Amino acid sequence: MRILLVGLGALGSRVAQLLLEQGFTELTFCDFDIVQKHNLARAPLYTTEDIGIEKVVAAKMHLCKKFPHANITVYDSPFTDTSNIDGFDLVVEGTDSLETRHTLTKVTHNRVPLVIGAASGTQGLVFLSISKPCWSCITTNKSSVADCDDGLDDITLDTVARTQVNLIKQWRWTKTSSTLYSIAQNKVTPITVLPNKQCSVCIAQSTIVTQAPYTIQTCRNRGTTQVRPSQQKRILLDSLPGIQVRYQHAARISMTVFGHAIEILVHDHGLLEIENATEQQAQTIAQAIYLENTTK
Ligand SMILES: [Zn+2]
Repeated sequence: MRILLVGLGALGSRVAQLLLEQGFTELTFCDFDIVQKHNLARAPLYTTEDIGIEKVVAAKMHLCKKFPHANITVYDSPFTDTSNIDGFDLVVEGTDSLETRHTLTKVTHNRVPLVIGAASGTQGLVFLSISKPCWSCITTNKSSVADCDDGLDDITLDTVARTQVNLIKQWRWTKTSSTLYSIAQNKVTPITVLPNKQCSVCIAQSTIVTQAPYTIQTCRNRGTTQVRPSQQKRILLDSLPGIQVRYQHAARISMTVFGHAIEILVHDHGLLEIENATEQQAQTIAQAIYLENTTK
C-alpha cells in the first residue's frame, strides 16, 4: 500500500514511525518546514543535529536507519491544490494546519481515502474521510492555527497517532462511510457525522457528477450497476487492465477500487455492468475506463 503522509511535525513524525513499525514500507513524506529547536520537545524523532534541516530529510534519515527496508520518498514542499496524489492508496494528514486540511479534503475527495489527525492540548480527533461526509462537511474553519507545540500533550499526540495507524491497519477497506473519533488524552470515542448539504466540497463534486458523460443505474435484485455513456464510446478492450475473459465484443475484467476487487463486464460499445459496487465505486470505474480506454 502506498501512503502519502503530509506533515512531519509532532504528530506526523509519530505516525511515520508507527506506520513503519506496523509494516507499511512504501511511504512518501510531504512537508516544507525545517526542524527548529522548539520542535524537539514534542517530536522525539528529531535531535539537536537536525536543527535547520528539512523535516522530511531528517525524518527519512532517522527512519531509514531503524527500518532499512523502508522505501521513503520525500517532497520538501507544501501540499497545494496542484499537488499530485496519483498512485497513492491513502493520504494521511498530521499538519496542524486547518488550511492544508481543507486543501487535502478538496484534492482527495472521491479519489483517495484521507485519514486526518489533530491534537490541541489534551483534546484530539481522527477523521477517516472516504467521500461524504468530508472534513468540510464538519467544519468550514479554514484559518491557520499558530504553531502550538507548547500546548500539545504527549499522551494525546500518541493516542491520535496510534488511532490513525490502527484505523489504517485494521481497516479492511470495506467501510464506505466516513468515521470521526473524538480523543481526550487516551480515550477514543467514535462519533456519528452526517453529510452537510451546504458543503462546498461535496457540492462541487456533485456538479461534476451531474455533468459526467454517463448515467449510472443500479439493479438491486441482481446487485449489478449499469453505467451507460451519454454518447456512444468505443472501448479498446485489449488495452483494459485485469482481463479475465475476452469475448468477441466484451471483456470481463477485475479492477481494484479502494482495495476492493470488483468484476466488470465491459462492452465495446461502452456499457459497463459492474458487480456489487457502490455508486461511488461505479463512478471511479467509469472515469478510469472511459478516460483511458476509448477512441472517438
Ligand atoms: Zn463535504
